[in-house]
Amino acid sequence: MARNPLIAGNWKMHKSERQAEEYIQALLPRVAALEGVGVAICAPYTDLKALADSARGSRVEVYAQNMHQEDQGAYTGEVSAPMLSEAGVQGVVLGHSERRAQFGESDHALALKVPAALRAGLTPLLCVGESEQERDAGDTERRLRQQIAEDLGGVAAEQLSELVIAYEPVWAIGTGRVASPEQAQEAIAFIRALLAARDERAAQQVRILYGGSVDPDNAAGLLELPDIDGALVGGASLQVDSFARIVAAARR
Ligand code: PEP
Repeated sequence: MARNPLIAGNWKMHKSERQAEEYIQALLPRVAALEGVGVAICAPYTDLKALADSARGSRVEVYAQNMHQEDQGAYTGEVSAPMLSEAGVQGVVLGHSERRAQFGESDHALALKVPAALRAGLTPLLCVGESEQERDAGDTERRLRQQIAEDLGGVAAEQLSELVIAYEPVWAIGTGRVASPEQAQEAIAFIRALLAARDERAAQQVRILYGGSVDPDNAAGLLELPDIDGALVGGASLQVDSFARIVAAARR
């Protein structure tokens, strides 16, 4: 089954609204002709409305980098899925390893956040992946199995196809140590098999990206593999030129 590739740029805590606007105006003409490739920018909250307005009608979607699981309430400093949706946002990164490690985002919270995002019409981009210690201990599959089981515990089997999953080995994020195509392919095939155990059809439809030190030089070697449906790109998404070259490498 053909799955359209998705290249998502995770800006993390970079770019003011003015910088975001300059970026999107430069990106849109670079990706306009790349039919069949989805593009998403995962931006800080303060950039989202302006980006969504500028990208409307283009192939570029705008994603947030986090959200709260409740629609509203006494949660100072938080933002909900319906708020993002009303701002024109199409998706949301959930479970990024930086949020898991530095902000205590738990599998329990993710089990509530993923269905909340779906209810609001947002595409959840769920990040999973093992630490270096877990890989060295031969625990990669156990970790992936646990994250997929717990984080997606609240999603009905037939809704799994609405998700995007990013396999992001923690040791590859921001380190320049990209996973080999074989490592990425193996982990992604394992994740797809876990999903297939719940719903074979949804497992064939869900897009599974690779993330971790993707750049314009290594992107083609990863993206040509049939199981890898795109990339979640951190550092290399901050410059329009390098991000646009990665998007171009995803064209099949
Ligand atoms: C990320 O932030 O999800 C990421 C993959 O970062 P980088 O590409 O910089 O490793």
